[in-house]
Amino acid sequence: MKIKTKKLLLLSLVLFSFFLLILNIFVSTRIIYHYQVNKISTNEKVVMLTFDDGPQTTADNQILDILEAENVSGTFFQVGKTIEEGLNNFNQAVSDEFLSLEKRILTGPSFSWIGNHTYSHNRYVNKQKLAVAELNKTHAILEKIYQDILDLSINQELVPTRLSYLQYFNGMDYISEKTNNKYFIRGYLGHDYKEEETGKKKILSEYLSHLKSGQIFVCHTRNYAQEWLGELIHTLKDKGYKFASFNPASPSYYKNFGKLVP
Ligand SMILES: [Zn+2]
Repeated sequence: MKIKTKKLLLLSLVLFSFFLLILNIFVSTRIIYHYQVNKISTNEKVVMLTFDDGPQTTADNQILDILEAENVSGTFFQVGKTIEEGLNNFNQAVSDEFLSLEKRILTGPSFSWIGNHTYSHNRYVNKQKLAVAELNKTHAILEKIYQDILDLSINQELVPTRLSYLQYFNGMDYISEKTNNKYFIRGYLGHDYKEEETGKKKILSEYLSHLKSGQIFVCHTRNYAQEWLGELIHTLKDKGYKFASFNPASPSYYKNFGKLVP
């Protein structure tokens, strides 16, 4: 009888340890893998400005004129194919312009940064292998840019990734694992890319009505940005907001404010 009790006790101890192990794996996985990021977890008045679908030399330089004049950072989520076509353009003057733009983003006074926005800006819902191939291909292009311009060897954590159209679907586990990405940046998407329909007033009111601590604003590389971006920044500054950056050299590096959370 005593032996039986001992055995039972031992068995429940083993089972309990096993349960703790599983719980631990589950909890730590959940902590590490925040696939979807929509904001910085902070009580401080801080936002992030991001600009998708570049590089485009005219529009991006106009945006940088504003960011630099305001001493504010931006993150440019660029499309791999567009970077390649720009930097490898047969016209040397064009290729030089693209290289200067990337240098201005990474080494200029705005402390801005470049992120991965896929290679062809596709829809990847049923094309997860394509998403993996494209994210890795664009990462390799960015790896060379960061190495050449900043002498920095990047990893996926240093260079944020945003899928085209802010896609986020079942199958992100696979993409995350195969691309070594722990998170995908989303945020509040305004309609600044449809400026004919939206116009300055509505673009501003959309962003400002979604203002909260740690908010990530999804904006776009468009010539029209020069019409509203300065005013958005002024209004945010008047409300006491700071602007976080993905650039680790920036005094406003996002980790100084908080973690990236869903
Ligand atoms: Zn996009």
